[in-house]
Amino acid sequence: MRTRCPSRPVVAIALLLAVAIGSLHERAAAWGNDGHRIIGTIATAQVSESTAKALRELLGDETTADACTWADEIRRDRSYDWVKPLHYINVPRGSERLDLARDGAEGQQVVSAIGKYKAILADTTKPKAERVEALKFVLHFVGDVHQPLHVSYADDLGGNKLSLKSFGKKSNLHKVWDTDLIDRELSRMRSGGWAVLSANLREAIKPEQRTKWASSRDPLQWANESLAITRTIYANPPQGNGDVDDAYFTRWMPTVNERLQMAGVRLAVLLDEALAPGEAKPSSSKKDAGPKKDAESKKDGAPAKNGAPSKNGAPAKAPA
Ligand SMILES: [Zn+2]
Repeated sequence: MRTRCPSRPVVAIALLLAVAIGSLHERAAAWGNDGHRIIGTIATAQVSESTAKALRELLGDETTADACTWADEIRRDRSYDWVKPLHYINVPRGSERLDLARDGAEGQQVVSAIGKYKAILADTTKPKAERVEALKFVLHFVGDVHQPLHVSYADDLGGNKLSLKSFGKKSNLHKVWDTDLIDRELSRMRSGGWAVLSANLREAIKPEQRTKWASSRDPLQWANESLAITRTIYANPPQGNGDVDDAYFTRWMPTVNERLQMAGVRLAVLLDEALAPGEAKPSSSKKDAGPKKDAESKKDGAPAKNGAPSKNGAPAKAPA
């Protein structure tokens, strides 16, 4: 019996669908661009003068905010496929702490990547192009490791396979945390976009919070914080019909805001350590290019604490 050859239009449609589905999946794999830009601008408003100068020298005309999203833009370039596992780390269900010997393929995960590229960024004997690439990686990965679902489970691709409706639209749990909650926040603001939200969040950081967050310089600790939040997220799925709505937003947006703030503060410290070692850090926020706040000010919220172990004890393997 002869196999039937699909007609050309069918093949073309199938290819288009594959590309569309592929790009949807790719997009759902990191804080959205706004989240990364918010973190980058919180950080650059706080770095030392020497660090700011070094950033300008390395990035040229490119803004730090734009450089923060480069690691996602290269997802479409097959020659950068090796970068994909560096955006996240998977843990077995039920784990309360990360174990770098167990989690992630031979150091190919976000925690190790931050240390590796920070060292390259700090090494002034390296070629400039290599240091620029390392800078773009750390700008991005410090953000990623603070997105709770980048420290989660392989069997549902970090929540990408958990389909749900979010504010009436088709979405999934990973995307809710990458973009939907931030988008909701932006749509509730009377005016301004991510830059206003970034300025609001930076201004809301209390000195004692800054001191506390800045004192934590270990990406493994940042990842363990994310895991604790992930466990709580899984233990407390959206109520009612299971859709993400304003009740979910009210419950979790403070956590999103705090993770963005923490990532920004820690990114600033990391950049100072790599680019201006030994320089004293100012403790209060300095002038920045951010617009004035005109949105409702947000309270800082700590992640909820009632993290019961999640169901389904499947081992981690596939990428999130
Ligand atoms: Zn990412």
